[in-house]
Amino acid sequence: MSITPRIGFIGLGIMGRAMALNLVKAGFQVAVYNRTRRNTAEFADLGCQVAATPRALAKVSDTVITMVSDTAAMDAVLEGPEGVLSAFLGGNTLMNMSTLSPAYTAALAKKCFTAGVNFLDCPVSGSKPLAEKAQLVILAGGKEELVKKLEPVLKAMGGAVIYAGQPPAGTALKLCVNLVVAQLTTALAEAAALARAQNIAPELVFETLAQNPALDCGYFRMKKDNILKSNFTPAFPLKHMLKDTRFMLAEAAKTGLELPVTAAVEKLMTKSYNLGYGDQDLSVILRHLTE
Ligand code: NAP
Repeated sequence: MSITPRIGFIGLGIMGRAMALNLVKAGFQVAVYNRTRRNTAEFADLGCQVAATPRALAKVSDTVITMVSDTAAMDAVLEGPEGVLSAFLGGNTLMNMSTLSPAYTAALAKKCFTAGVNFLDCPVSGSKPLAEKAQLVILAGGKEELVKKLEPVLKAMGGAVIYAGQPPAGTALKLCVNLVVAQLTTALAEAAALARAQNIAPELVFETLAQNPALDCGYFRMKKDNILKSNFTPAFPLKHMLKDTRFMLAEAAKTGLELPVTAAVEKLMTKSYNLGYGDQDLSVILRHLTE
């Protein structure tokens, strides 16, 4: 038996596919839309309605969840005659889980408020493996009672929900957390490169970190194979982290705050992106450090 609300899910990429599958597994009635239609086939096989446009999806949904690349992708699915907002009525809920800029998120919250549409700003912390295990940490912004009401939906995709405040608080918190992830990834890549430069096996770096209770970290274990085997199959594509580091720097600049290490990480990631590595895992920064 399906559980209300009727959910429309937009964006079946690395993260969205796993998150939407978890909603289906949890028993929610889920309809889907993805720009590239072939990615919806497994959902059709599971009995989900596949919408031809974001508008058609919005028409059969109480709550639309977006998990798309960036602000351009959000505009593409929300705006215009075939966009979600063309069909959404007062009382419907738009829940964004993509990582966007705080400025975009604040403007979207205002637009939804004017249209009588509920808006939740719910980006996620955690990559593909945690999305697959429904263990994401969801950083929720919006009316607290609405977050509580939709907690069963959030908990079908995540292991924890952290209430951040009014939009864009969820997004602002997400950028702080991703700052740490960006720098940890760079630290691992540089440590492996330095080990090789000194004829030390990079495996020993990971082993030392794992043996030290103060430094043993799930993220290091998650990225170990990427770094040691130069396997850059994307869990978190470099282009998305590059986008996020630029959002961090833009937000910091608004208050005159300098983030010198994040600025250096952004430069490093830009170099990797310009070498054509944008679609690979963000750990690919190792490649141009060592090549
Ligand atoms: P992804 O695999 O690149 O998927 C992106 C999704 O956005 C796809 O469904 C894509 O559709 C859609 N899209 C892109 N441009 C579009 C457009 N112009 N119009 C309509 N749809 C469009 O990305 P992801 O890794 O799942 O990440 C999604 C979001 O979550 C990003 O904001 C990212 O920063 C954030 N995030 C990612 C991770 C991670 O570890 N991967 C973790 C936390 C947060 P097509 O299939 O047609 O290309």
